[in-house]
Amino acid sequence: MSLTKEALEDYFLSIGEKKYKAEQVLEWLYIHKEWDIANFTNLKKELRETLKKDFNTDFIKIKRKEEGSLVKKYLFELLDGNFIEAVLMEHDYGKSVCVSSEVGCNMGCKFCESGRLKKVRGLETYEMVEQILLIENDIKDKINSVVVMGIGEPFDNYDNVLNFVKIINYPKGLAIGSRHITISTCGLVPKIEEFSNFPLQVNLAVSLHAPNDAIRDKIMPINKVYNISKLMASLRKYLLKTNRRITIEYVMLNMVNDSLDCAYELAHLLKGMNVYVNLIPYNETNNLEFKKSTRIKEFKDALTSQGINVTVRKEFGDSISAACGQLRSKEV
Ligand code: SAH
Repeated sequence: MSLTKEALEDYFLSIGEKKYKAEQVLEWLYIHKEWDIANFTNLKKELRETLKKDFNTDFIKIKRKEEGSLVKKYLFELLDGNFIEAVLMEHDYGKSVCVSSEVGCNMGCKFCESGRLKKVRGLETYEMVEQILLIENDIKDKINSVVVMGIGEPFDNYDNVLNFVKIINYPKGLAIGSRHITISTCGLVPKIEEFSNFPLQVNLAVSLHAPNDAIRDKIMPINKVYNISKLMASLRKYLLKTNRRITIEYVMLNMVNDSLDCAYELAHLLKGMNVYVNLIPYNETNNLEFKKSTRIKEFKDALTSQGINVTVRKEFGDSISAACGQLRSKEV
């Protein structure tokens, strides 16, 4: 599950087999959800034996599941004993999964619970693919969209995350449309530039959370490396190259970044760009002192009055600590 179709074809060629076998194997894995190589009955027994020797087919495990209304949170145990979480959400338009990309996170955003455990390692591609597969299996239904917004900074694990995207997008496999896949970054500028060359039309979301460096420096350490002007320059280049609309995420923190002045400054910063702002009501956690803004509506109206497209993120999963920024990679 770490291999794209092309990589699996290369494997078959390398052992002197025809490359169309790759398609057959992917059909077993993703269409029939048959994960025991012994049952790949359209492959010769001898070839099945070779596959068993060459591949490890152990899966990550669902360790615990918590259910809220229209939301389920899954705690997964990885083969090395680490833990991560993913969240399933039911919308009117279908089911979406928020996947984790790393064990822990090094970005250190002050308001985020997930970052309290420092990065242990990036997830392997199969560990992301299996989050989707195990959830599909659990609910006996198909996932329509995927957001890489769980634990971790996806662009800090760039190659594995993009490999994952190619695998879940494969049309004869999980077939999750590229426009239904969103990657969210806190703003790793060189990777945003690299991502503008990625061939699939995947959505980009950027955690901006402040209209100026003074505020952003205080809440997001990454701003000391890539400040707002560097970040905005990379987004402008991305827009020119891809013509795809960017989502600007803005978490509403009481008395930190939610004044009307902030709204006007944000509108000015984004004016003329093909973006829309997604305001995220802050989910409070026991360990951090930030509070949810009480001025979301006023802030939204101020942005709208300046001609900025804006939506407020639907609140999901707070009751089971499955909401944005509440996922933990510690089994506690
Ligand atoms: N590292 C990536 C992916 C995480 S996405 C990124 O920063 O974009 C998770 C989103 O939820 C980010 O926008 C993050 O800033 C936001 N977030 C973190 N803690 C939150 C909280 N307690 N309430 C609401 N949103 C939060």
